[in-house]
Amino acid sequence: MSKGNIGVTSDNIFPVIKKFLYSDHEIFLRELISNAVDATQKLKVISRQPDAGNMPMDDLRVRVKIDKEKKTLTVSDHGIGMTAEEVDKYINQIAFSGAEEFLNKYKDQTEAIIGHFGLGFYSAFMVSKKVEIFSQSYMEDAKAVHWSCEGTPEYTMEETIKAERGTDIVLHIDDEFSQYLEDATIEGLLRKYCKFLPVEIAFGKKKEWKDGKEVELDEDNIINDINPAWTRKPSELKDEDYAHFYHELYPMQMDEPLFHIHLNVDYPFHLTGILYFPKIKTNLDVHRNKIQLYCNQVFVTDEVEQIVPEYLTLLHGVIDSPDIPLNVSRSYLQSDNNVKKISGYITKKVADKLAELYKADKDEFAKKWDDIKMFIQFGMLTDEKFYERAKGFALMKNIAGEYSTLDEYIDKVKATQTDKDGHLVLLYTNDADAHYTSIERAKAKGYDVLLMDGELDVHCMSQAEQKAMMNGENGENGENLRFVRIDSDTIENLIRKEDAAKDNYTDEQKEGLRKAFEALLPTADKLRYTVSCEAAAADALPVFLTQNEFMRRMKEMAAHQQGMSFYGNIPDSYNLVLNTNHPLIQELVGKETSEEVQEEVEKDGKKETVVKTVYSLANEDERLKQLIDIALLASGQLKGEALAKFVERSVTLL
Ligand code: ADP
Repeated sequence: MSKGNIGVTSDNIFPVIKKFLYSDHEIFLRELISNAVDATQKLKVISRQPDAGNMPMDDLRVRVKIDKEKKTLTVSDHGIGMTAEEVDKYINQIAFSGAEEFLNKYKDQTEAIIGHFGLGFYSAFMVSKKVEIFSQSYMEDAKAVHWSCEGTPEYTMEETIKAERGTDIVLHIDDEFSQYLEDATIEGLLRKYCKFLPVEIAFGKKKEWKDGKEVELDEDNIINDINPAWTRKPSELKDEDYAHFYHELYPMQMDEPLFHIHLNVDYPFHLTGILYFPKIKTNLDVHRNKIQLYCNQVFVTDEVEQIVPEYLTLLHGVIDSPDIPLNVSRSYLQSDNNVKKISGYITKKVADKLAELYKADKDEFAKKWDDIKMFIQFGMLTDEKFYERAKGFALMKNIAGEYSTLDEYIDKVKATQTDKDGHLVLLYTNDADAHYTSIERAKAKGYDVLLMDGELDVHCMSQAEQKAMMNGENGENGENLRFVRIDSDTIENLIRKEDAAKDNYTDEQKEGLRKAFEALLPTADKLRYTVSCEAAAADALPVFLTQNEFMRRMKEMAAHQQGMSFYGNIPDSYNLVLNTNHPLIQELVGKETSEEVQEEVEKDGKKETVVKTVYSLANEDERLKQLIDIALLASGQLKGEALAKFVERSVTLL
């Protein structure tokens, strides 16, 4: 037996590391199993050499066992094993010095260590008071070796007898980490980190329920799928295989994905993977099933935000790349050239796939549009390159349920919806029921109305308008494309075909009526009303509400965006339009006579005289109130007491 000192310089590195890595000690299992898998893979390579001789290759499973009495956890493999010299070289010298170097480098960056590789074999000491290695090398005449170390820089090494080739790593689990002696904990960790390792991992035996009892079968309980779909050729896989793999990845997911993309690149970096498009209806769906990042089939993390653009994290699936640097800090990752290339590649692949699906079957694509639109819009809004690729298949839907790209839509409505100044006006609603009247008026003029009720639609409209302005799309000077919500003005004003119609009333006459209405408008916090007179269509309502498109849109965008709270705090403002072309208004205009009266009011216990304007019409004619209420009702703003009063008044008036 030999004794020695592990090649580390500081005596107390063990306890420091134990504490230091406290939050992520579970990775020890991944590290040990990765080593066992590597040793097995190496053996497979060696066995294929012409001079390999006859090596038993029948059982290459890696086995994980718990012994509750001895309080040990053992990882065994039948791989290449190690000779005494190799243990000395790889464990005593390299493994430990590697660990020390690593820790010195990242002492202040816990984040860099957590979840990343680099600690290797050494991480066993995070949870063990003693670690033993029993190893029998595949090499002829090699003697088996037993190495033991109790978490100090001293170790012992001696010759031993081991029946089978390969390595057993025996961890004597620290009392404080007794959870690693629980079957459920270990099985959970194996399923998390080892689910797709390329060598079979067995944990205990398969169990079955028989006559109300759980009995152990003779068969190993295999944790992993050694040929996960992403490692296979797309030509070997059917749609069912992709669907099956999806559920293997996310056992709790009931929904089927809409479609998938198989990633496969060798140059200038290695990357494989499968991405799935889930149905994304709301923000709530997001991030439930995250993209998983693997490195040669070893699970690394499901935090891929630094590796792919944010909108791509809405997708599901796996990415496997040995070329993503894992033992660096996350902020470094984003600036890494390989990572940038990988991100660019994935973006392009995703866009290409969507373009291909769109081209292959436009109707089928349109059917799926509502489920993927959030993802595509998010991508277009945040990634210029993706925008360029996606504008050819990003769709819009009109209220009749017809889909088209922006360009197709422009072609369709250009002739009818261009106003007298050459502006192309695209009409939309976010609620076809609420805007029923306005929509009908637009339809009567032969116009089309888009349905824009998605969370990101307002942002996309603004983006399309800006792009049109910059590119001079649809007109020489370019500033010609405008989205307006159908209720933001009268249809005649939204798409002005001729100069505004005039009426025959004087400004004073109209001003009097305006003031009378103004005096009767409801007041509320965060709500402002203005009144204007307009010669709208004779068959339009006598009074109606409009809401300025710009302000409303800014407010809507503010709800989603930081730094726009200025708009968010502005009250909602509506304009009450008095239609001077309507007989009811014509009957009222000019009838208004206001007078100023003095009134005594009590203020802070003192009597005060104030001058008040009394509008005759506002006071005497119930019809004004009724008209205002009709306008409010038509735009869904008449509620509660005001609604009850309206109903009562209607009965009285009848
Ligand atoms: P890394 O795996 O990153 O090289 P480790 O500290 O995990 O670092 O392991 C150091 C070396 O010890 C390995 O490179 C390998 O040569 C050897 N080794 C570790 N575990 C095994 C094993 N189960 N079978 C054979 N060799 C092993």
